[in-house]
Amino acid sequence: MPQKVQGTEDLIGSYMREWERMLAIAREVFGTYGFDAVETPALEQVDTFVHGIGESTDVVRKEMFRVVSGALLGDLLAVGNESGLKARQRLALRPEGTAGFVRAAIENNLVPQGAAPVKAWYAGPMFRGERPQKGRLRQFHQVGAEVLGASDPALDAELIIMLIEFFVKLGFPAESLKLRINSMGDAICRPAYRASVRAFILAHADGMCDDCRERAELNPLRAFDCKNPACSEIMQGAPLVTDQLCPACAAHYAQVKAYLDEAGIAYEEDPTLVRGLDYYTRTVFEVDVEEAGVGAIGGGGRYDGLVELEGGKPTPGIGFAVGFERISLALRALGSSPAPEPEPCVFVACTPDQRQAAFSATHALRAAGIRTEADYQGRSLKSQFKLADKLGARLCVVLGPDEAAAGSATLRDMETHEQVLVSLAELAEAIKARLEA
Ligand code: AMP
Repeated sequence: MPQKVQGTEDLIGSYMREWERMLAIAREVFGTYGFDAVETPALEQVDTFVHGIGESTDVVRKEMFRVVSGALLGDLLAVGNESGLKARQRLALRPEGTAGFVRAAIENNLVPQGAAPVKAWYAGPMFRGERPQKGRLRQFHQVGAEVLGASDPALDAELIIMLIEFFVKLGFPAESLKLRINSMGDAICRPAYRASVRAFILAHADGMCDDCRERAELNPLRAFDCKNPACSEIMQGAPLVTDQLCPACAAHYAQVKAYLDEAGIAYEEDPTLVRGLDYYTRTVFEVDVEEAGVGAIGGGGRYDGLVELEGGKPTPGIGFAVGFERISLALRALGSSPAPEPEPCVFVACTPDQRQAAFSATHALRAAGIRTEADYQGRSLKSQFKLADKLGARLCVVLGPDEAAAGSATLRDMETHEQVLVSLAELAEAIKARLEA
């Protein structure tokens, strides 16, 4: 029997309602800040990620799920490599949402030169070929937000404030959220900083792991995230980006912090916070909930060079993404139960001779916008009441010969078992009044 892929999850029942609740809160909070929803494909050309995220990142080198159509698979296996494939045939499932959004913004000319910034939010599955463990899946769900078209530090601060507000609305106490921020510099000051970290790693290479030695050449800043204790200790002495920011980046960072202070947002400066994707410039941030121990629940940053890397005109940008599954784990760890109750429903029960009447009543209630259930397996009235209970029905409409003779239905409150006779013409209104009470 086929089984679900390791590191994937089915969103069913209360778990699905949790995801829907997150989407509803995202729509509400992000809408207040002027963000519109967008949806881009989960399937993109590999180049979208190679150009944007960077060839040397773990995400692109090791974790991207590559997709080949059945028609191409035979050719690919026969040749033994993908050299014969055209760019449009080299496909991947998106490991994150920003690169695809930026690709879409360029293709749809979302930000013509000189236009006001575009603000968009998205939600959907992301795919990374990681080793599955708690809070680390191969298919997970992110909600993200992006702003393209302005580098004003007010946007950096507003985006962070919006993220914190979102977490609070989801149920995290503000004091449980640990926000770390940093500035990673820009095209002017980062190359020199990167070179100084590379030189530092090479000078200490003997004590560091093979991965970090490789990182020195490919992506030296990633050495700050190495889990090897010897490497972390050595990296504590590495040069810090905040000591090497150019005056423009230093001023931008200072202004972001001033805005956060003004808004009363608590943060910690962490000069070793370097996010894993190449496209980040200037402000980067991450949020975790220490008591939950599930790792970062969200993070993001500015990416002023990304649009150009993807082939568009120079356009600054900033965004974040949060992970649904980790948020769910973290809320549970804090003792909060994030799943809302299912919508209240009404059950139409009937005696065998009233099936036709039950069919029409069910249809009429649904047409009036009431979530309505019925029996389709010829159960006895008693079993229908049991089923109604199981489905969480708040009210039961009972149709029997007496009710039919009176052109009415019995309305039974499933909690109090109180029953009243209501005329069929007034049934929908009577139910609505009770459900809303
Ligand atoms: P990133 O794009 O790596 O910054 O991830 C943003 C957020 O997505 C993280 O803070 C996590 O909450 C979530 N996330 C990233 N990778 C995974 C994964 N493999 N499994 C579950 N959640 C993830």
